[in-house]
Formats: sequence, C-alpha cells, structure tokens
Amino acid sequence: MPMLIFPGGYGGMVHSDQGRVSLSLCIRRDQLQSARQAAGSMKAADAVLAHIKESCRAVREALAGARLEDDWLSAGPIRPGIRARAFDGIFLVGNAAGEAHPVVAEGIGMAMQSAWELCKRLTAEPVEMLSDHRIDAVSADYAAAWRRIFAPRIHTAALIAHWAMTPAAVRYALPLLRRFPGVLTAAARLSGKAASA
Ligand SMILES: Cc1cc2nc3c(=O)[nH]c(=O)nc-3n(C[C@H](O)[C@H](O)[C@H](O)COP(=O)(O)OP(=O)(O)OC[C@H]3O[C@@H](n4cnc5c(N)ncnc54)[C@H](O)[C@@H]3O)c2cc1C
Repeated sequence: MPMLIFPGGYGGMVHSDQGRVSLSLCIRRDQLQSARQAAGSMKAADAVLAHIKESCRAVREALAGARLEDDWLSAGPIRPGIRARAFDGIFLVGNAAGEAHPVVAEGIGMAMQSAWELCKRLTAEPVEMLSDHRIDAVSADYAAAWRRIFAPRIHTAALIAHWAMTPAAVRYALPLLRRFPGVLTAAARLSGKAASA
C-alpha cells in the first residue's frame, strides 16, 4: 500500500475494484481542528481531504476527477501503546493487549497472531488441567512471548508514525533513505512487515 504522509497525519491508498480506490488515514486531533477551521463550512472529512491534497501532490493527481461513493467513515481515536496482557484469569489479545500505530498496517496480523500465541498455550494441556497455578504460568509465559514478539513492532510503528507526521523530519531523511535504502528493510523487519531471511 503506498503510504501517504501529510502534516499531522499519515495514510494509505489502494485500488479495490471497478476503478475504485480506498483511502484510509489517521490525523492528529489538533491538525483536524485547524483543517476544519481553514475549510470553513466544509464537512470534517472534506476538510481533511482538502488538507491532504494541499500538501500531497500524488493524492491531488491520483484523485483528479474522482468522485466520492457513499459517505466517509470514521472511527474513534487510536490508542497506540502496550497494555496488560492478562489479569485475574482474563487474557487480552489484539488491540486490547497492545496497539501499533496503523502506519505499518500490522494490526490485523497482530490481533490474529496474539490470539494464536495465547490459544497455543491454553490448549497445550487438556482443559481440565487448567488449574489456577497453570493459568498463572500461562499468563506469565504469554506475557513474555507477547512482549518479545510485539513490543519491537509497537515501538517501531510509533517511531515511523511520528517521523511521518513531521514534514521537516521527512524532508531531511529522504536523501538519507535514498542513499541507505537498507534502513527501510531494517524498519520493515522491526515493524513485522518483513521476516528476517
Ligand atoms: C485508519 C486505520 C487503518 C488501519 N489499517 C490497517 C491495515 O491496513 N492493516 C492492518 O492489519 N491493520 C490496520 N489497522 C489496524 C486494525 O484495524 C486493528 O489493529 C485491528 O482491527 C485490531 O483488531 P481487534 O480485534 O483487536 O480489535 P477491533 O477490530 O477494534 O475489534 C474490537 C471489537 O470489540 C467491540 N467492543 C469494544 N468494546 C466492547 C464491549 N464492551 N462489548 C462488546 N464489544 C465491544 C468493538 O466495537 C469492535 O468491534 C488500521 C486501523 C486504523 C484506525
């Protein structure tokens, strides 16, 4: 998915079908407010699109002549970070356990993988063997595995997201990335986008 970056946010745009494209993005709350103020009476989503088009030539060109099908959809704030994985015999998976900035588009895979890591441990022995002691051991083992597998992805995604939302940082980093493209490969591995060979 080509990544779009613009002041105060980031997103991605993909071809879906029948000549349609889907644009998904996150924008910081303060940037949303200033985009809305600048756009006057426009709806919030239209103000955001105008903000993106203003700073992102590729989006302007790709969407020239495009028309909106249906309404924009929005979701509440993202809450990137690492949370508890288990408490009082309750196990958390997916975003409830920890959420990566969607800039690396790994959240669905992480949700499935964390559920798999947990179930693997819970089903290692017959269910009637799940004593309190065994549940405590599963909790500790799951928490350690979770941190090892997902914490680097969450930290890397946060770094990339904050870099992407800061136009000056992007401007200065681009020549370096062209010169040392291996940095992108390393970031892809750390964020979980690519496995080590
Ligand atoms: C703009 C954007 C783009 C993204 N793009 C990608 C992408 O391209 N690829 C990717 O892999 N990930 C992407 N993600 C991240 C991905 O969507 C999430 O990481 C993933 O959906 C997390 O799955 P989950 O099952 O843990 O939680 P969710 O998908 O959030 O599911 C939790 C469900 O629980 C429900 N719920 C909450 N509280 C209660 C309650 N008390 N009782 C009952 N139900 C409740 C919620 O309504 C929700 O349906 C994106 C996220 C955003 C915001």
